[in-house]
Parts: sequence; structure tokens; C-alpha cells
Amino acid sequence: MTEFVETLYPDYGQRFTADEILYEQNTGQQHLVIFRNAMLGRVMMLDGVVQTTERDEFVYHEMLTHVPMLAHGRVRRVLIVGGGDGGILREVARHPGVEAITLVEIDQAVIEMSREYFPGHSAGAFDDPRLSVVIEDGAEFMRQGTQTWDLIIVDSTDPVGPGEVLFSESFYACCQKRLSAGGVLVTQNGVPFFQQEEVKQSARLFDALFEDWHFYCAAVPTYVGGNMTLGWASDDPSLRQVGVEVLRERYKEVGLATRYYTPELHKAAFALPAFILEAISN
Ligand code: SAM
Repeated sequence: MTEFVETLYPDYGQRFTADEILYEQNTGQQHLVIFRNAMLGRVMMLDGVVQTTERDEFVYHEMLTHVPMLAHGRVRRVLIVGGGDGGILREVARHPGVEAITLVEIDQAVIEMSREYFPGHSAGAFDDPRLSVVIEDGAEFMRQGTQTWDLIIVDSTDPVGPGEVLFSESFYACCQKRLSAGGVLVTQNGVPFFQQEEVKQSARLFDALFEDWHFYCAAVPTYVGGNMTLGWASDDPSLRQVGVEVLRERYKEVGLATRYYTPELHKAAFALPAFILEAISN
């Protein structure tokens, strides 16, 4: 039986048995492997780091999408940076008010293999007429053009390899410039119990660029180390104050049916443990 040990941390890592290796390739951008695991269903790893599993993907994709979507309430144009597995795209596409979705993914192979081996992730959303897919480095893409978006979702790998630029000051500065008035940026921002530097750095960069910023939590079983933090940054402080009644209304209006996100959890997710508050306040 083949096994994969996650190599995100040098001295600690979760182990996966692989009943069947479905796909493995050096894509030119990263090492991509997709395998079947008895507990988690199909699993994708990039450069030795778990990206998504069939069993727990809904947690992350629902929280990174519906928290900003329902807080904002009038999102028409969405940019997804990364997100090649299609999970964020599926959740964004559930919002009928969205008129245009741009997905900028550096690695075409991730999209192709996700369509083939994780059809439930995108659930047909790659064929949504509102979508345009750009195969490019997200940081490069953000340096060109003047288009703005109401919501920018950075669904990237960790800040190693191709993902590193998506945690940089210049990238966040481009995002801030390219958000429409009252727009919001949300980011995959690691598991602070083990990746505290990541959340510290994002806090410092957000603080210099945005009126209002914070983090919110989601407990993704295969992003080991306790709660993961999702970055929130906007020039409209009122978005984070939207009440649970309004969120409930909007949830109903959109006709969402989620397995992790609830309006009550949306509000609670912004309450952070003391050690994370301490890390982001220095
Ligand atoms: N949910 C996962 C997580 O939290 O780590 C992320 C999953 S998604 C598969 C990450 C995607 O980011 C990958 O498809 C990868 O190719 C893409 N990516 C990494 N660096 C990128 C860059 N600089 N520009 C655009 N996409 C990038």
C-alpha cells in the first residue's frame, strides 16, 4: 500500500494511505498527485501538501465564499486567484446576483485534472457562462489592467513555490487598488498554530493597506493544526458588522443549502483565540 506523508512541516506531518493513485505529474509548476484514500475519498496534493479532499472540502469552500458574499450583499463581479480545483467557483456560482467570475490559475493541469477527478468540486461551474478562466500567475495578472471586482478570493497554495507571490505586499496592494468601492478581499491564510508567521505578515500588510481587516476561522480537518485563519480586508468597515438577522435573510434569498456555513457561525468565526489576537496585534 502506497503512503503519502505531508511535507508542509519538516518535523511533523499527516500520513495518507493511497488505495489507488489516480494521477501523478510534474506539471512544470508543481508536483501534482491525486489518489484515493479510504477515509477521505479522493485527495489532491501539490508539492507534498494536501490541497483538498472530497470528504472535507465543503468546510473551506463554503467559509471562504459565503462569509464575504453574504456580508457584502451586492457582489456582481468576483475574482478567484488560484482555486483550480473548482470548489470556490462552485460556491460563488450558487449566487444568482453574481454577473461575472474571473478565475486566474497558474497551472492548467490542476483545472484539467480537477474536472476529471473531482467533478463534485466544480459541479459543472467550469461551464458557467459567467466564467472566464485565465491561466497565469495571479500576481502578474494583477499588475496589468484596470478591471475592478467587488470580491477577490485568494484560494492559493501555501506561501512556498508559485503561491509565495500571493502573500506579498505588492500583490495585496494591487488587490486593494482593484477592489470596487465597498469591495472585500479574502484569503487562504494558513493554520496559525503552526504557521504563525503567515498570519503575522498578512496582518502587517493588511494594516498598511486597508481601512478594515481581520481574520476569521474555519476548522478544516485535513489542514492540520486546529483552526485555519482566512484573511479579511476591506475599505468598508461596516461589512464586518452586518448582523446575523441580515445574514439569515440574505442566506434565504440566495437559496443556499450549506453543510458548514451558518449565519451564526459567520459572526462567531471572527472571534479569535487569544494567541492569534496576540500574533496579529504586534
Ligand atoms: N484550498 C487549498 C489550500 O487552502 O491550500 C488551495 C487549493 S487550490 C488547488 C490552490 C491553487 O493555487 C492551485 O491550483 C495552484 O496551482 C494555484 N496557485 C498557486 N500559486 C499561484 C499563482 N501565483 N497564481 C495563480 N494560481 C496559483
